Amino acid sequence: MTKDVANDETKDVTARTAAGSAAAPLVVTGTVASSHPDVRPGDVLVATEFSAVTCASAPLLTGELRRAGRRVRAGTLADLGVPLDEPVVAAALRAARPDRPTAVVLTAGSADGHADDDADPDGAVGRAIGAWRAALGPRAVLLAEPRSFCAGVDRAIEIVERLLDRGPHPVYVRKEIVHNTHVVRDLAARGAVFVEELDEVPQGATVVFSAHGVSPAVRRDAELRGLDVYDATCPLVSKVHAEVRRYAARGDRIYLIGHAGHEESEGTIGEAPEQTVLVQTADDVAALPDDEGNASYVMQTTLGADEADSVAAALHDRFPGIRGPGSDDICYATTNRQNAVREVAAQADLVLVVGSTNSSNSVRLVERSEAEGTKARLVEDLGDVPLGLLAGAGTVGVTAGASAAPALVEEIVAGLRALGPVRTQEVRVATETVTFGLPSGLGESTA
Ligand code: SF4
Repeated sequence: MTKDVANDETKDVTARTAAGSAAAPLVVTGTVASSHPDVRPGDVLVATEFSAVTCASAPLLTGELRRAGRRVRAGTLADLGVPLDEPVVAAALRAARPDRPTAVVLTAGSADGHADDDADPDGAVGRAIGAWRAALGPRAVLLAEPRSFCAGVDRAIEIVERLLDRGPHPVYVRKEIVHNTHVVRDLAARGAVFVEELDEVPQGATVVFSAHGVSPAVRRDAELRGLDVYDATCPLVSKVHAEVRRYAARGDRIYLIGHAGHEESEGTIGEAPEQTVLVQTADDVAALPDDEGNASYVMQTTLGADEADSVAAALHDRFPGIRGPGSDDICYATTNRQNAVREVAAQADLVLVVGSTNSSNSVRLVERSEAEGTKARLVEDLGDVPLGLLAGAGTVGVTAGASAAPALVEEIVAGLRALGPVRTQEVRVATETVTFGLPSGLGESTA
């Protein structure tokens, strides 16, 4: 039996309970007053907790509404300045239960007569609630393993953290330390100053080079400016730089299989710019001029194995004597995450890849999933997951690029759990034990 507990005094209250159904959703919407100084009439207020019950799908609703163009604040009712005796809230408080999917999406009314204000002038709240309802249900979650941070990312973050702990301050970081919005935002909040180029760093200051590596020209510039440099270049990227130096020393024309504009490619080319040519596709190889001399090739560490193999094969066809690393330049972390997501994608209706759009290895995980014929989406975090994608997705695969924190995956699983019972299963293809030491002067690695 469904009992409507909406407050009769307010026409836009849509709080409902479904007594007798353990997992029946609880939806609380309506217009409320807010005492928060930053809340404006018309703002949407999404509760992260309601009557001591955590609303773990609040980020999903918040993201949905923000994408619809609404101004949204999320937090506890106290954070949002909404009193518990607001009629719409009070009417539903006793209906909350931990096993019950709960969506509390309120609209801030004007200070005078909020009860008469339209709670959903553009229909965005109704559409978000509708999408949330459609996404409810039990599902299986397949967790790709390995996923998230690799040894190179762990080391790069730890270098910045140790410098932030011990000073001297400020600690400058050239480029994003790793390609992840959350990592960069968190370190910036702790005091790291991210710059694009060294001319933004004062003479003699402390600077960290990112995990993607830098060209010798950048190192020389840092020396000329008297900077105190800590190099967070991943040792596996440094290995590719060393290959380029070796091939250049024997006079080879060097082909770098990589992506134009990616920081790693730029740093690698910088080792021997006169002798190195970037090739991204087999078509690029076909367009190359003839080359009578010795040739060799290297790869960006975060390529898709299939993509890199096809370009390498084209190079071998074009220059039969060419020498290269096979696909050994593609790092262990990239390889493992691609193999794991392939296994997951083969069994899933949808794959969510946690990572930033400028993270090469994360984008490859989406491509790898799609190559299995499975819908895949790159998401920064739970708030980035469109609810519409989850409707009908009974098995959801989840993985994360090497620069995305494990906590973001946990948040996504919690968000899915808030939509209904979730059975999780790990799909492991490898166990990683790789660790890299810290630069001298920073102590032992804890990774
Ligand atoms: S993805 Fe590979 S190359 Fe890049 S930092 Fe991680 S281990 Fe190093």
